[in-house]
Amino acid sequence: MSTGGYLILLFVFFVFLFDALLDVLDLFSLGRCKSADDIGVYDEKQFRRMVSYQKDKLVCRAVRKLVNGVVLIALFVLGFVKYVAVVLESGVCGLFWKTVIMFVIIEGIVALVGAFFDALDTFEVEKRHGFYTGGLTVFLRDMFISSFLGGVVLVLVLGVVVLFVDLSHSKWWVYVALFISMFNVFVVYIYPSFVAPLFYKFHELESVELRERIERLFDMVGSKLRGIYVMEASKKSKHTNAYFAGVGNKKRVVLFDTLIESLSVDEIVCVFAHELGHYKLGHIPKMIFVSTVVVFVVLYMSYGLVNLKWMCVALGLPYNFPCSLLVVFMIVSAALFLVNPLVMAISRKHEFDADRYAVDVTGTPHSFIRALTELYKDNAVNPCPHPLSVVFRYSHPPILLRLRKLEECKGMK
Ligand SMILES: [Zn+2]
Repeated sequence: MSTGGYLILLFVFFVFLFDALLDVLDLFSLGRCKSADDIGVYDEKQFRRMVSYQKDKLVCRAVRKLVNGVVLIALFVLGFVKYVAVVLESGVCGLFWKTVIMFVIIEGIVALVGAFFDALDTFEVEKRHGFYTGGLTVFLRDMFISSFLGGVVLVLVLGVVVLFVDLSHSKWWVYVALFISMFNVFVVYIYPSFVAPLFYKFHELESVELRERIERLFDMVGSKLRGIYVMEASKKSKHTNAYFAGVGNKKRVVLFDTLIESLSVDEIVCVFAHELGHYKLGHIPKMIFVSTVVVFVVLYMSYGLVNLKWMCVALGLPYNFPCSLLVVFMIVSAALFLVNPLVMAISRKHEFDADRYAVDVTGTPHSFIRALTELYKDNAVNPCPHPLSVVFRYSHPPILLRLRKLEECKGMK
């Protein structure tokens, strides 16, 4: 391996390190929230619980990223990737299978490390702090399903890449980008009906009072909704949430059963109004557009990089398509993290806008503030993350910032 190869690996490792460093910064920030009174959201007992949970969570996450980075780099430095590439080169299978086997072996090893930390996070953090309520069987079942789905998507995308590289050498990135963008929309469309039910059971909202209140809200803003569903989240976790999923005739609002147990009817209506805000303000298509732009930029970058022979040579690998694609995948995945600030900033703006919408449409800012506070408390969310961590990783604004914005809304009324 030459200096260029070490520089490539250094860049990739830097991103893992930087991501882990953000967890460490969050840990320090947590230390600066001295007491529940300083924050004004948690009572003393809840505050101590939140701090203890967040400390464990952040340490687990930071160690996971470092180990992930070290394992990936070690696979290159110790010559394992080269070994697989040389064995595959002498094999008789075609380009598609060589590419698939290469990715399945390397990404599979990285995924195994991830699975170990998932188990650690689930049983040593979530379960110990009273959030995870499922058992080992449920955990293994979910892990098997998500790994299987991930594997299918990986093979599908690699198949499309190889197909278009074969068919059109210079334009393959455009066709692959188009395919991935359409696949993204397809997933958003089928997610509520086919993917989410693999992990959770759903049923129609039973509470007549709540249903009437929600339907009245929809009538008021002239919207039609296909379904109000309750997700039986409590079978696995005590975390609370709600989300708007799907597009077209598959769109639906999903409330966690844990949320229904935790909030009053007025507060749930506010949460619902916030989710309705995401829909009415067009946040789903806007985010699909953003991800489409990112996909095209990423594929164009990949197209430019995959032809650079020196990268494979610098890493001591044979120059062939599977090796080039693997190296490019590693570099582009790392570079994608640097796009996070833009995507996260858009997402946080959408959250502020949906908050504002909820307050305007319900006219009950106090209930909304109570609902929001309960949501953050129930989930033991860190109320004072480090600003740099917020920039890179927070799709939702920190609670104190959200409350401040809502106070401004109230002031304007
Ligand atoms: Zn939201």
